[in-house]
Amino acid sequence: MSDISLVNVCKTYKNGYSAVKDFNLDIRDKELIIFVGPSGCGKSTTLRMIAGLEEISSGELWIDNCLMNMVEPKNRDLSMVFQNYALYPNMKVKDNIAFPLKMQHIGKTEREKRVAEVAQKLELDALLERKPGALSGGQRQRVALARAMIRKPGLFLMDEPLANLDAKLRTEMRREIITLQRELGVTTIYVTHDQTEAMTMGTRIAVISGGVLQQFGTPQEIYRNPANLFVAGFIGSPNMNVWDTELISNNGQHYLTLGNARIPMGKSGLDARGLQGPIKAGIRPEHIVPAAPDDPHAVRMKISILENTGREAAVFLTGADIPDMTMVTGADFSGRAGQEVYIRLKPEKILLFNTETGCAYGDVYV
Ligand code: ADP
Repeated sequence: MSDISLVNVCKTYKNGYSAVKDFNLDIRDKELIIFVGPSGCGKSTTLRMIAGLEEISSGELWIDNCLMNMVEPKNRDLSMVFQNYALYPNMKVKDNIAFPLKMQHIGKTEREKRVAEVAQKLELDALLERKPGALSGGQRQRVALARAMIRKPGLFLMDEPLANLDAKLRTEMRREIITLQRELGVTTIYVTHDQTEAMTMGTRIAVISGGVLQQFGTPQEIYRNPANLFVAGFIGSPNMNVWDTELISNNGQHYLTLGNARIPMGKSGLDARGLQGPIKAGIRPEHIVPAAPDDPHAVRMKISILENTGREAAVFLTGADIPDMTMVTGADFSGRAGQEVYIRLKPEKILLFNTETGCAYGDVYV
């Protein structure tokens, strides 16, 4: 088992670059946690500090209530899987898989038994006599996973393990990792820059930007209630629509402006927070819907691009004196580029953010 706590963890590289800033996180035993964020945001650095491959500049790393800062990587009871597989090219698959056991001086009979077990789990039985050069990318990554699993560690660390695979294989392997992780019940931290991967895999997701943990929560929490504009923009595709607007109060009613249109908002939440004036508003594309022209709250826009996937239609909209918007609606949406449409924003789905800090105001629509 492995509960992990990072307490005020910082990393400053020798050249003075501050790659991880005051990172705090509690991971529970058996969780599958995703670190997600753009390239260079500090995901690998954080993972490598947990692995012991990178020194922690300040702060504390706890695994199962033991302070780990000074513990050697080999004594941390963890296995790592990397993007580049890191297999030994001259060793057969079975020897690659058995390698960690050999390092622990485990006997041949036991090694062979464990290799057979893990090979069966990962469907590698038929490949054990081959060398890595004679395997596909997916098979190599499976061997790397088998090698990580064979020691039955308390913690798996995976750094973009699927980045070299094509899209279809990546989706398959993703599901396989989720299933394996659940079966084995091993606490796992998985690093990716791909928000879709993060959303589909994680029980909880840590969104990181600029070396700073922006939000830690379930995929639903992060999607529905992003903590700030960075998270709002990074998670979700197409992106959340965000525009500069103003909150106006008139006779006890609250409105948001969108061009010349006024969107009526709920009352009590805004009253309680005393919000008014310039603000940033955000709405997910699926919360914009086609409207009738005589709808008093309809906004007139023009279709610039229409992408219909057969399952849904992403409609990119422009308008006079209105910021561009994206609507995702049913695939039966009939419209074409250049055509005018009326849309309506679901006010209860609008999120509000502080113009200066980008931080979200939660629960404004009550
Ligand atoms: P990510 O995994 O999110 O892509 P990294 O953790 O690899 O990001 O890197 C975070 C930042 O730290 C990057 O700006 C990177 O250039 C910098 N960095 C990584 N390793 C070193 C190093 N050894 N010395 C100095 N800067 C580094």
